[in-house]
Amino acid sequence: MEDSPLSRRRLLWGAAGATGTALTAVGLTQLMGPEEKAKVKAAPPRPARKTPGIAGPPTTRHTDSSVDYAPAMWVDASESNYTPSNRPEAYPIDYVVIHLTTDILPVMLATFKDPTERVSAHYVISSTGTRIAQCVRERDVAWHSGNVWYNHRSIGIEHEGWIDQPQYSNAMYEASAVLTATICAKYDVPVDRDHILGHVEVPEATHEDPGPAWDWDKYMKLVKTARRRIRT
Ligand SMILES: [Zn+2]
Repeated sequence: MEDSPLSRRRLLWGAAGATGTALTAVGLTQLMGPEEKAKVKAAPPRPARKTPGIAGPPTTRHTDSSVDYAPAMWVDASESNYTPSNRPEAYPIDYVVIHLTTDILPVMLATFKDPTERVSAHYVISSTGTRIAQCVRERDVAWHSGNVWYNHRSIGIEHEGWIDQPQYSNAMYEASAVLTATICAKYDVPVDRDHILGHVEVPEATHEDPGPAWDWDKYMKLVKTARRRIRT
């Protein structure tokens, strides 16, 4: 059904600025080199099967392509790269963890699709702030922080950027802030630095992102502003 809403969504990236305006028609594969395209094509379809969660009752893999955040496009991670769950019932969502990709967005998405990589995040935001991909459902546990306890209790957001080339656009900060504020509103996560963490701040983390150039003051201000605008 090429013209169904879900098919259309596959072709569209959501524009995700603070204003959340028009959608931009950019196919995922247009952003990819031949190698990434081959990886995506080679990715096997996700079978629907029941898999026991780490705790609680058995949960079902989510095979639909709907997103938890309307401006995002669904670009699923390999089912080998996350843990199916039923959050927030199974685990409370108490944290948002901020990452930098240190690679371009299409490569990051291809990495999440590669079952041998054993890594994923819920969301990936482009350096321009105009594209957001959701790769893992919020109810499921993405493997992003290097700490199992925090993974079970957090949403991971990757930002296209490099620690050694810190040029983060206002649009990316704004798009990310609206997403984080939406998550905080949905799961009642306090908007403070005890609950919105950099990857480097997760105990036992071996990564240093988002790095010293990430402007936390500016980011938290934007998140607070966006949070105030969201009625719950
Ligand atoms: Zn990270």
